[in-house]
Amino acid sequence: MKNILIVLSFICFILGPIDAQHSTDREIIRIDKNQENREELLELNLDLLMEKEGNIYIVASPNDLIALDAKNIPYDIESHKFYPREQGVFTIQSGANGDFHSYTELERDLMALADAYPDVAQVIDIGDSLEQRNIYALRISDNVGLQENEASVIFLGCHHAREWISVEVPYLLGKYLVENYGTDAEVKRLVDNCDIWIVPLVNPDGLEYSIHFYRYWRKNMRNNEDGTYGVDLNRNYGYKWGWDNLGSSPNSASEVYRGTGPFTEPEIQAVRDLFGQKNFQALVSYHNYSQVILYPWGFTEEASDKEDILFEIGDKMSQLMKSVNGRYYAAERAGAGFYLTNGDTTDWSFGEHGIPSYTIELPPDSRITGEFFNAESDILPIFNENLPAALYLIDWCIQTYPSQSHTSQSHTRQQQGKSLRIRYPVT
Ligand SMILES: [Zn+2]
Repeated sequence: MKNILIVLSFICFILGPIDAQHSTDREIIRIDKNQENREELLELNLDLLMEKEGNIYIVASPNDLIALDAKNIPYDIESHKFYPREQGVFTIQSGANGDFHSYTELERDLMALADAYPDVAQVIDIGDSLEQRNIYALRISDNVGLQENEASVIFLGCHHAREWISVEVPYLLGKYLVENYGTDAEVKRLVDNCDIWIVPLVNPDGLEYSIHFYRYWRKNMRNNEDGTYGVDLNRNYGYKWGWDNLGSSPNSASEVYRGTGPFTEPEIQAVRDLFGQKNFQALVSYHNYSQVILYPWGFTEEASDKEDILFEIGDKMSQLMKSVNGRYYAAERAGAGFYLTNGDTTDWSFGEHGIPSYTIELPPDSRITGEFFNAESDILPIFNENLPAALYLIDWCIQTYPSQSHTSQSHTRQQQGKSLRIRYPVT
């Protein structure tokens, strides 16, 4: 026993400094926005975090600090204000991220939902992360253990570690559906007629790292073997992967590093493989921030030949969202309206599988109002305003799906959705 403890201590000693490398790598610094070297500051191309109360906050690498010193630009290091707790203790269960879920909190809550509502909810492990955490799907349907001839839809969360709210919205959607199944006729109709898959946490390793070491961590925890860590999971999908260096980066240090090839990362292999077993009719991938609804293409500014229907569904979701709290999420084509991305989830699910696919960038709407941060008190309002859009998309799948078990009322919508490739379940 004693020997085991010595070995464990040694492993912790070895691992400690390696992990610390990620977190001490960069600092969050504050610079007076109106200081006299403003022009020179802009030329440094720094990673702007936010502007607040006359200050600019920047995520600065050691080289950035050297460059600032060389130009005599004064700054204050304020990283400590941005970490939710002291660094260096890699405990999994701590509540360090408040009402937002950690990996084990999510695991616990998903299991509890499935235990409480076994007739309509199942937790399925769809694959493992690099650090061997489970990637969980909450599957919701009537006769949930069976493969039925019915519509199917998938909601994904947290490809990007620091986007904590993107775990909460899909998780709460699942919770809402199972808890209201017995009492709400509309929820019952949706759940009875659709196989709903919710994967709230695609990047569990990154999330844990973001909670415990570095709040702004974005990528997964891939050791790139060159001193850098992480592949951007939302640039590693196989459709038009690496199309250009604008929509992703071949540089391993980049926040949008696409990896050494398509689908190299196990976290998104799990998503890909799920598509091999299920024929989804639509996909939503939640991110933040920006408060927009993005649809393909992302790899080009050009429109797809399904532009009309993609916009129509996106715009309908936008209207439904606005009706809740008055917050406007513009529906935009990703590459033209937002910025270019290649190897992202929605280009792949649309390009490869032909289904309407949306990246919903949750609030806030800008860097100035908080960037990746949402207060705990924001979780429910953001979920509430996203709920009717999610329910609408589930219904769209049901109405569009040409199942014999559905009544003739589905036929009109079937016609509208006809321009999209409709796929049948394997069994
Ligand atoms: Zn994101």
